[in-house]
Amino acid sequence: DKKKPVVVYKKPIDFTKIDAKLLPTVMIIGRPNVGKSALYNRLIRRREALVYNTPDDHVTRDIREGIAKLGDLRFSVLDSAGIETEVSSGTILGRTTSMTANVLARTQFAVLIIDVRAGLHPLDLEVGKWLRKHAPQIKPIVVMNKSESIGESLAEVASEALALGFGEPTAISAETGLGMTALYEVLHPLLEDYMVQTLNDRCSQDDVTSDENLSEEDESKLPLQLAIVGRPNVGKSTLLNALLEEERVLVGPEAGLTRDAVRVQFEFQGRTVYMVDTAGWLERTERDKGPASLSIMQSRKSLMRAHIVALVLDAEEIIKSQRSMTHSEVVIARRAVEEGRGLVVIVNKMDCLRGKQNSEMYKKIKEAVPIEVQTVIPQITGIPVVFISALEGRGRLQVMNEVIGTYERWCSRLSTGRLNRWLIKVMSRHSWKDFASQPKIKFFTQVKARPPTFVAFLTGKTQLLESDIRFLTKSLKDDFDLGGTPIRIIQRSVL
Ligand code: GDP
Ligand code: GDP
Repeated sequence: DKKKPVVVYKKPIDFTKIDAKLLPTVMIIGRPNVGKSALYNRLIRRREALVYNTPDDHVTRDIREGIAKLGDLRFSVLDSAGIETEVSSGTILGRTTSMTANVLARTQFAVLIIDVRAGLHPLDLEVGKWLRKHAPQIKPIVVMNKSESIGESLAEVASEALALGFGEPTAISAETGLGMTALYEVLHPLLEDYMVQTLNDRCSQDDVTSDENLSEEDESKLPLQLAIVGRPNVGKSTLLNALLEEERVLVGPEAGLTRDAVRVQFEFQGRTVYMVDTAGWLERTERDKGPASLSIMQSRKSLMRAHIVALVLDAEEIIKSQRSMTHSEVVIARRAVEEGRGLVVIVNKMDCLRGKQNSEMYKKIKEAVPIEVQTVIPQITGIPVVFISALEGRGRLQVMNEVIGTYERWCSRLSTGRLNRWLIKVMSRHSWKDFASQPKIKFFTQVKARPPTFVAFLTGKTQLLESDIRFLTKSLKDDFDLGGTPIRIIQRSVL
């Protein structure tokens, strides 16, 4: 029997405090020149835009996305520049199909713009038809743009616009900012209802997975949330496909092809695995402030949703650069650990090191990488490192075994009796400088799993030093096999 959610979200919602990934998405649609870009720019205040200027036909690339600010309202806004060409050329076919699938799948709301000075145009009706066909669940908000100097004919156009079948239009001027309050008043209740629903759904879902009242055994049987992270082109999509054993994710040599989140669920040995946040795959280097900067932000956030983070490295790159991890890889790994996630490191493209001339390299990389990884991420010990070739489908099982093993360790619960028997032994094992420097731990207990968290109750004025915590952490890991999972130790004094 499922536990009821503890937190219930109610109105009012403070949108400014919501994780960007959870915000509702609003698409701006309309025929050419009605002022879509103008409204988009006003909403995002020209910031955080992902602009894809690639002239090729890559479907999702000519869509801009940003975080809109409208008073205290926040939402993700999409500028549908690509749709306009189809509508205007009269062929709402071809590449639309793939684009709509991608974009509309994650859109909940739409703003349909008409140009008030032109009145209702036949192409506006086309746009309306297009939306009805591709996203019947979306009822757009109709806005009449360029209404700053229109005067009397506003009412006339407003009644014409009813022919669209989407209700009363709202008059705005994207250029001057007129009517933004009216737009807020229309959007706010809709987005707030949506947000309440989303937060509560998510909460009940999260609550099941973080239920601390379950027994040790049950807990590790809960669905595992896995994030595959890494720089572009290391082979994340290829690995995912190998894990799924079918082509479900688009793979290509071009960095950043999979910008859109793909939520994937699969079963492995009777266990449900959720792949979280494949959108975060677009990890760019710090200095590259290109179109992917928003996605970097998301990739950081994505770590919070995962239980286990699998960091993929590229063997070819390691050979070239003579080091196991780049700066951004170290940053991501450390962050994962700080966030309390379990970590597994995967070295992909090992097939590139086949052949006699490479056998030395092959051996060297297998020896050096685990040591180096452990050196740059000293916060946790026993990080599993797996060597694979995603392209050839080699190492799949090993990856899943390490992921699941780490997850089980991450879920471990140790009884207080066992821990205190262990404590006596372990304290005598360590040679303290002198008696006075030895911490007096009266009682040691695990208060939480996922990740394992312990409390040490200390007598008198003693406290645990950094070095004591390191020693206890390492001993816990060695004696109870807790590799790859963060271990937290909290200290409390008892008088
Ligand atoms: P899009 O093609 O729908 O993205 O339209 P744009 O945003 O590029 O705007 C098309 C033209 O309309 C540009 O010349 C804008 O300056 C103009 N425009 C946009 N919004 C307004 C507005 O509120 N008032 C007036 N007068 N012109 C506007
Ligand atoms: P992502 O950007 O991390 O998702 O990387 P992809 O999965 O799109 O792979 C990038 C490129 O590396 C593609 O050309 C893949 O075919 C190639 N690749 C992926 N895994 C391997 C592998 O194990 N061995 C080799 N030789 N190439 C690989």
